[in-house]
Amino acid sequence: MRSLLGCDHEVGVRVRESWYANPLYIRAKRGLFEFLFHSGLLNVFRLLRRDSVLVAIYHDVLPAGFPEGNPLFGMTVSVEEFAWQLAYFKKHYHPITLQQFADWYFRGAAVPSCPVLITFDDGHANNLRHALPVLQQCEMSAVCFALTGDLGLCRQTWFEDAYSRLMFSPAKSWCLSNGECWRLDSHEQRAAACGRFFSLCRTLPEREQQEELELLQSQLPVTEPGNISEPEDAKRERFEFLSEDNIRALVENGIELGSHTVTHPILGSLAPENAHREIAESKAALERVLGKPVRAFAYPFGAPGLDFTSRDEALVRESGYALAFAGEGGFVTRSSNPFCLPRVGIGRMTHAQFAATITGAVESLKSILLLGRRAE
Ligand SMILES: [Zn+2]
Repeated sequence: MRSLLGCDHEVGVRVRESWYANPLYIRAKRGLFEFLFHSGLLNVFRLLRRDSVLVAIYHDVLPAGFPEGNPLFGMTVSVEEFAWQLAYFKKHYHPITLQQFADWYFRGAAVPSCPVLITFDDGHANNLRHALPVLQQCEMSAVCFALTGDLGLCRQTWFEDAYSRLMFSPAKSWCLSNGECWRLDSHEQRAAACGRFFSLCRTLPEREQQEELELLQSQLPVTEPGNISEPEDAKRERFEFLSEDNIRALVENGIELGSHTVTHPILGSLAPENAHREIAESKAALERVLGKPVRAFAYPFGAPGLDFTSRDEALVRESGYALAFAGEGGFVTRSSNPFCLPRVGIGRMTHAQFAATITGAVESLKSILLLGRRAE
């Protein structure tokens, strides 16, 4: 078993991870958010982007009490958090629908200043059960980008299965096919191993990804498929996919549907015919359920150039979609690429961090830091 710290490349990864986990860094970041929030400077950022559209990404909305610090719940917000975040949007922004967004983007129709479009990725049943009532209370619409491979089932995607095993298997180490091994003694080591698994998958063609996943599954048994050692309710709420009836209920209540592929692959790593199948079959499946065309798509994982490429953008266009959203990148302007529209990810945040994120202040600071790092 080769020590992790014996590998130069991995030392670099660990140093970066430990910097972001550094309490001083976390405190400095929080302080900066609080300063921006209370100084009124965020209003400047908001005004600078008042003519761009903020497309916010959510995933899961659950009752409070779900696990903290677990990568499987990393993009989940509680019902209470979702409620105050939507109230903030209502107060400082103008929520729009996908139709209004398309009219603005394609036909130059007017939208109110500081427009926001709410989106959900993955298509879990908690979107209907917990997010919809809050949206209705706030009189807001949203777009739900659904996976179609497991409609109505309670099942983890391939990467969630790997994360579950890395987080909860009784095994104490995991070795990759290249001989690199990770200790799984602590929660922190397990969470870091999840990050390593995903960053590795991004670099591998689909066949090798599958082999790496099977190797991981053979080393890290779980007592039952998808056992995540969490309360049964939280597990069911988190991993149950929308059923066909759920999808129709969402649409009847003003939520628009888009596609997010069949199985949530890293599209850029797939052979062209498999990428096309993921993109086209999910569209056809949703159209069968809804009886009307589905024109919007969101890329799984969503980092342009890493998780999908210009080839995938072309496949999306050729499959009959009109719009496709990335998972990052900031705000949409009329000059944005219609098949790589930027969005802003929302998760568990303090009020100050939320406000700094949705005004674009965080995005701007990241760009400045990146420029600084490139200049080093
Ligand atoms: Zn997704």
